[in-house]
Amino acid sequence: MSMILIDNAKHQGLRRQLKTVLKNKGIFDEQVLHAIGVIPRHWFVDSSFEDHAYQDKAFPIAAGQTISQPYTVAFQSQTLQVKKGEKVLEIGTGSGYQTAVLLELKAIVFTIERQVELFKKVSLFLPMIGYNPKKFIFGDGYKGLLEEAPFDKIIVTAGAPFVPKPLLSQLKVGGMLLIPVGNHTQIMTLFIRKSNKEFEKHELGDFAFVPMLEEKN
Ligand code: SAH
Repeated sequence: MSMILIDNAKHQGLRRQLKTVLKNKGIFDEQVLHAIGVIPRHWFVDSSFEDHAYQDKAFPIAAGQTISQPYTVAFQSQTLQVKKGEKVLEIGTGSGYQTAVLLELKAIVFTIERQVELFKKVSLFLPMIGYNPKKFIFGDGYKGLLEEAPFDKIIVTAGAPFVPKPLLSQLKVGGMLLIPVGNHTQIMTLFIRKSNKEFEKHELGDFAFVPMLEEKN
């Protein structure tokens, strides 16, 4: 990885502007805004996009995938109400930017990626810049992560054609799964586990994600 990691007053200024943009779109959680304000997003995008890294846009990363739009990252993080010390499972590590936000929120993070190129890149890059998930996993997010279950929160950052059952069953009672469900566009869907068998479901609007791929693809 040939990369010069510079974070200067210009970048910090752009992050302050991005925070304002997100506030105007309805992000109010101070800890989430703080995370957006301190994480150098320009380190997570290809250098050809560096000048645009603080626009509220998704960009291509390796392996035909994308780094999610900052609003989407902020919305998912805010909705999950992540608290210090909570066990969070992330499906779709991608660029690692959402992972960094979860770590700024002081969660204990397990993150799964199925593209080996991204998995390798991010598992070197994030620790290098001081972000240390509990575990990077190369594998299939449809299965969740049984050996570390149950989780307080599960976040899916790819568009799922259906809700994988293992993700619901790996939640603690009181835990939440946030998953964009649908094929072309997705409905952001929040499940709250009320008891062993009962889940409350909330639909929170339309989003657009790259597809969550099944192992056979
Ligand atoms: N949070 C990331 C989003 C990346 S896009 C970011 O902001 O950078 C979604 C990611 O989900 C891609 O990296 C894709 O490879 C991954 N993905 C798709 N299907 C998956 C699956 N079944 N299991 C784990 N990861 C998956």
